[in-house]
Amino acid sequence: MVELSSPERVYFPDAGLTKAGYRDYLLGVADRLLPHIANRPLSLLRCPDGIGEDCFFQKHYTKGLPDGFRSVDIEEKDGGREPYIYIDDEAGLEACAQFGALELHPWGAQVGTLEKPERLIFDLDPDEGYDFSDLKDTARDIRDLLETAGLAPHVMVTGGKGIHVIAPLDASNDWDEVKSFAKGFATALERHDPARYVAQASKAKRKGKIFIDWLRNQRGQTSVAPYSVRARKGAPVATPLRWEELSRVSSGHDYTVDSLPRRLSSLKSDPWDGYFDHAAPLKSGALDWARSA
Ligand code: ATP
Ligand code: MN
Ligand code: MN
Repeated sequence: MVELSSPERVYFPDAGLTKAGYRDYLLGVADRLLPHIANRPLSLLRCPDGIGEDCFFQKHYTKGLPDGFRSVDIEEKDGGREPYIYIDDEAGLEACAQFGALELHPWGAQVGTLEKPERLIFDLDPDEGYDFSDLKDTARDIRDLLETAGLAPHVMVTGGKGIHVIAPLDASNDWDEVKSFAKGFATALERHDPARYVAQASKAKRKGKIFIDWLRNQRGQTSVAPYSVRARKGAPVATPLRWEELSRVSSGHDYTVDSLPRRLSSLKSDPWDGYFDHAAPLKSGALDWARSA
């Protein structure tokens, strides 16, 4: 057990969620959350005084962190080494609650095999006011294309504005390969339908379009974990869905700390059943295709 100080401190005022309530949420979803974050370097969005107050990302391990946090030295681009935070068990989740870490953003690779990504992710970022049912169609189109490449795409609403399409990889490719595939894929989508898609991050170019954010597929980049809460009003949760369920959601933030546990207890099986069993390689044909895209 990690000691929780000030358990009655309010983290989400509008949702009435306290520090203890947040800890209890994390422990309640631990069996589903930990497989996706344990043993991965983690960027934590910390809001020690709750949402609405100052929030900031922390990725480096420092002295005096709550028990439950672990440290791994990682080589940075400039050749230096820095200690990064990771967790590997429920005590780590309790530490997150104690630390005011309201969003959990793992790397796409595990401690020990940091140069071999274990997932391909397309983060669909719609412009303000973009039609959500149209965004869902895009997610399905991406699913179909990735299936053609022999991958097993899964879908998640982020708890924010968008959708993530994520395919588990078998960690046989390196970052360069995964990044060039992701970039080539997003670029090809843009070329195919430039009125609808953009593969560059610039806000100006996003007007009325969907930014196919492939940049999460780079060493050192993170994306929000399945079942992570978002530090936004209403305590929305990043929620994995079955593809068949996508037609039933009306936004990226339909589920919250309040409704998500009810959703889970009403399900017969996990929405991402078999996720890790379907890890596959990016085959050379797909890589060649992306290079020429
Ligand atoms: P939405 O559906 O609203 O787009 P999202 O989680 O996809 O939700 P984005 O803004 O598209 O949000 O993604 C930004 C991602 O970049 C975050 O998920 C996070 O992992 C990462 N990120 C952003 N800023 C930082 C930072 N300062 N440190 C670490 N990671 C960051
Ligand atoms: Mn996004
Ligand atoms: Mn993004």
